Amino acid sequence: MKQFWSPNSINKNKAMVENLQSHGVITSDEVAKAMEAVDRGLFVPDRSCAYVDSPLSIGYNVTISAPHMHAMCLQLLEKNLKPGMRVLDVGSGTGYLTACFAVMVGSEGRAIGVEHIPELMASSIKNIEASDAASPLLKQGSLAIHVGDGRQGWAEFAPYDAIHVGAAAPVIPEALIDQLKPGGRLVIPVGNLFQDLQVVDKNSDGSVSIRSETSVRYVPLTSREAQLRGE
Ligand code: SAH
Repeated sequence: MKQFWSPNSINKNKAMVENLQSHGVITSDEVAKAMEAVDRGLFVPDRSCAYVDSPLSIGYNVTISAPHMHAMCLQLLEKNLKPGMRVLDVGSGTGYLTACFAVMVGSEGRAIGVEHIPELMASSIKNIEASDAASPLLKQGSLAIHVGDGRQGWAEFAPYDAIHVGAAAPVIPEALIDQLKPGGRLVIPVGNLFQDLQVVDKNSDGSVSIRSETSVRYVPLTSREAQLRGE
């Protein structure tokens, strides 16, 4: 049968996910399904590089994280991304990971992105609108991106089952711990030049347990002015 559309990009996205599975980065079917459903090629400025396992510049002195980092964070948060749950993505950038979160929590859940560069927020909306998997969730309201300082979290829909931070904080912002549900999990890179990806679990009594998953290198979670100055 003759096909009138090009399956090229979808196949490359699938191959990227299969590669992450074969390297053991993705072990959950739900994470694999979400990353297969959301074509990374729709979220990067240069589509030809979209499926390469490295970060890419998205302007404004920041990058979209590499696929293996997105996969690792989805894996770490997997149990807190079940249908109907609430997730906050701080520093949502291209909107790629927020879209994956939204697909996992579904139309009964809520995925909120917060990004402090208005232009990036606007282009993330366009990216999401181009995604067959994510655009219905945006239209229906379970997926939304806001402009704001993510160090304050997003109180409107707190508390969250999962919070992801896509930029490195010198210390964990108190507001993010406050906005975590008991049983909720925060994944955040912490540090300056040398950073650890920290996993913060809020226990049922409100106390928190913190562990370091691995060493990472993220752009800073900072003020808009400092970021645009390239600090
Ligand atoms: N996770 C996204 C972007 C990673 S780059 C992706 O993979 O596409 C980090 C993002 O955090 C950038 O878009 C940057 O503009 C944003 N950022 C940095 N400090 C911030 C702050 N205080 N509040 C909100 N967003 C912030």
